[in-house]
Amino acid sequence: MDRPRVTIFDTTLRDGEQSPGCSMNVQEKLRLAHQLDRLGVDVIEAGFPIASDGDFEAVQGISAAVRRPIIAGLARACTGDVDRAWQALQGAAHPRIHVFLATSDIHLKYKLRITREQCLEQARDAVRHAKSLCADVEFSPEDATRTDVAFLCQVVGAVIAAGATTVNIPDTVGYSMPEEYGQLIRTLREKVAGIDKVTISTHCHNDLGLAVANSLAGVQQGARQVECTINGIGERAGNAALEEIVMAMRVRPDRYAYEAGVASEHLFASSQMLAEITRVPVQPNKAITGRNAFAHEAGIHQDGMLKNPLTYEIMTPQSVGVPDSRLVLGKHSGRHALALRCEQLGHQFERRELDEVYRRFVVLADRIKKVQDSHLLELIQDVVKGNASNSDAPSSESKKFPPAAVALPLPRSAVAAAGANANESHPAQVSAGAGQAQAQPGPAPTNWFGGGVPAPIADHHGDQEDYLWGV
Ligand SMILES: [Zn+2]
Repeated sequence: MDRPRVTIFDTTLRDGEQSPGCSMNVQEKLRLAHQLDRLGVDVIEAGFPIASDGDFEAVQGISAAVRRPIIAGLARACTGDVDRAWQALQGAAHPRIHVFLATSDIHLKYKLRITREQCLEQARDAVRHAKSLCADVEFSPEDATRTDVAFLCQVVGAVIAAGATTVNIPDTVGYSMPEEYGQLIRTLREKVAGIDKVTISTHCHNDLGLAVANSLAGVQQGARQVECTINGIGERAGNAALEEIVMAMRVRPDRYAYEAGVASEHLFASSQMLAEITRVPVQPNKAITGRNAFAHEAGIHQDGMLKNPLTYEIMTPQSVGVPDSRLVLGKHSGRHALALRCEQLGHQFERRELDEVYRRFVVLADRIKKVQDSHLLELIQDVVKGNASNSDAPSSESKKFPPAAVALPLPRSAVAAAGANANESHPAQVSAGAGQAQAQPGPAPTNWFGGGVPAPIADHHGDQEDYLWGV
C-alpha cells in the first residue's frame, strides 16, 4: 500500500540561518548542505541571493556541489530579486525560485504600503517572470494565517494561473492553532481553482510551540510539502523541527500515514553538525535529538528499560542515529572505531584530520579511560577549528575534560550522546573532582554544551602520545 509522499523542504540554511547567533559562512553552509543531502531531504533552501554576496555564493556553491535535491533560492516579488536568485541557481541540477510577498492587511498597510490590488498584481507579475526563467516556482503569501481568507484565495488562484507549482502557506508569526491551520488548508483546497495541480506547503513558526502540530495538521488536510529546519532553528522561536516531523510520521503511521524520503538514522548527526557549526547547543530535552531524549534516569524507568525497552521507549536511539554506547571508546579502541563514531556524530574526516583526532583521542583516553561522545565532540571541535597546536593540545584538553570517575546510570544512557555525562545534572552523584570544580568562586566556566568544566588534571603521558602518533 502506497502512502502519500510528503516533500521535506529544509530551510535551515535560509530561515534558520537568519536567526540570531546561527549565521554560517559559505564553507559551513556547503558542509551542512552535503549532510542534508545524505539525510535525504527533497529540497534545500540554500539562501536569499539578493540579501548578501555571502548568500549568493552559498546558493551558487551548493547548486554546483549538491546535485540530487532541488535547490531553492528565495526572492521578494520583484524582477531584481528573481533575476538574482536565478543567477545564483544557474548551476543547479534542479533549481527552484521561491518568491514571497506579504498578503495580510497589516503587512500591506504598514510594511509594504500597497493596496490589495497592487499586491495581487505584484505577486502575479513576479511569478510570471520567475516562470519565464525556471519551471519550478514556489510562491509564499507571507503572513498567510493573518490574511483575509477570501483575499488569500484570490492571490493563491492568481499565482497558480501565473505558473506557480508549489504554494506555501506561512504562519509567519506563529499565531495559528492546529485545527485553524488545518482548516485554512482545507478551505484553500475547496475554493481555489487549479489548486489540485500544485503542491500545497506548510511553513510554521514556533512562537506558541505549535509549529510541528500546525504542520502536521496541514498535512492531514492535504499539504504535501513541509518546510522545516534541523533542531527547529529559525526566526524568533524557530521553525517546525524537521526531526520531529519525520519521526512523528514514522512512529505513528496509524495517525499520520505519510511517507518522507528522509533517512532517519542521519538525524542525530545532522543535528550535531548544525550545533557544532553554529555553536548553538541543542536543548537537552529537545525531542529526538536532545542529549536526554533517550536517557532514562528514574529508577523505575531504568528497571523497565532493562526488562524490556518497549516499556518506556517509543523509538530506538538507533533509528535516529544516536550512537550505540555499547561500543565503548577507550584507549584500546582502534582508528576504525573512532572514525565510525565520528561519522555517527556528523563528522567525516580525511586521513590527515583523522590522524590528528586519533592522536588527541589516545592522549585523552589514556587519562580518562572512557571517552564519552561529549568529550569526543569537544576534541573534534578543536581539531576542526584548529584552535590548538599539537604541542599545547594536552594542556587545553586537560582544562576541558572531566576525570574518569563519573559513572553512568545505565549502559545505554551514554547514548544521550551529544551530551555530557548523564550524571552532570545530578550534583550529588558527581565525583569529587567535578564537585571541587563547581565549588570554585566566581562564574563557573562552561563547556560547549553549557555544562560545568571540571578542575584541570595535571598529568599526561607525552611519550605515549609520540609513540601512538601515526599508528
Ligand atoms: Zn519563516
